[in-house]
Amino acid sequence: MDNDTYVVGIDLGGTKIAAALFDSNGNLLNREQMETAGTRTAKEVVSRMNGMVRSVSGGRKLAGVGLASPGAVNSRDGIVIQGTNLPEWDYVPLKDWMEEELGTEVQVVNDANAAAWGEFVRGAGKGSSNMVYVTFSTGIGAGIVLDGKLLLGANSYAGELGHNIIDPAGPACSCGRNGCWEVFASGTAIRDTALRMMDRRPSIIAALAARQGEAVSARHVFEASELHDPVASEVIERTVHYMALGLVNAVHTFNPDRIVIGGGVSRAGDKLFKALSAKTGTLLMKPYLGTFDIVPAGLKDDVGLIGAAALFQS
Ligand SMILES: [Zn+2]
Repeated sequence: MDNDTYVVGIDLGGTKIAAALFDSNGNLLNREQMETAGTRTAKEVVSRMNGMVRSVSGGRKLAGVGLASPGAVNSRDGIVIQGTNLPEWDYVPLKDWMEEELGTEVQVVNDANAAAWGEFVRGAGKGSSNMVYVTFSTGIGAGIVLDGKLLLGANSYAGELGHNIIDPAGPACSCGRNGCWEVFASGTAIRDTALRMMDRRPSIIAALAARQGEAVSARHVFEASELHDPVASEVIERTVHYMALGLVNAVHTFNPDRIVIGGGVSRAGDKLFKALSAKTGTLLMKPYLGTFDIVPAGLKDDVGLIGAAALFQS
């Protein structure tokens, strides 16, 4: 095989760094992981990442290194503007620092965009040309692929669907404004709505969570709704409504042929996807009916790594 076709993907997280070597078919050949706890400065983290690149590539010549970073990222210049969960990360020129050290091209994208690209090239977005990727977890992450290209925008901040305002009179969001989509449709929203309703009405959600030795989360709400718990069913119905509202806005904006859903919610099963498709259908403008599918994500925990590496393998 041509030596130039190896690529390293890195997923830089708030608590860990994962790096992996891929061949040109996207096969993962070698993987390493490291805790970031105790690593203080950006320079230290970069030096660890460079060490991991050398270690996983084992002397092979690389076509490039793709890196997924949390927070706001300027992808054109490879600068992390502000790293969520990475203190002291302020305008870090990651691309320049790493390229100087490694002598190979480095591309940096925000982690939601990396995941979107990973799904598009290697996962459930394969075969589509216009894809909207949405992950419902603690918050809502999103990435858009239009005409086969990752949509970045002028500052590469495009695709923050989670902070589209659904209801200006709605509850406060972590971004400092009110009524963003993620306040209504994230996993956190599912849990919080359930907790509020459980205060007033009987429900098996708390007992399900306790039996598993866990605090109540969205997953227990889904499990309880499978068992026809009225509170859980109402929460899920309400959430599906809000999920659909946000998706409809995305459909009217981007006209995708496929919507890929990631995050814990994507594992809730067929019933949720059927309800979501049906609800979305009732809210769409007529010409858009039947123009797209809503499918669960195809990749799991390594989606950030895979997507970052796939930046060199479009
Ligand atoms: Zn917000």
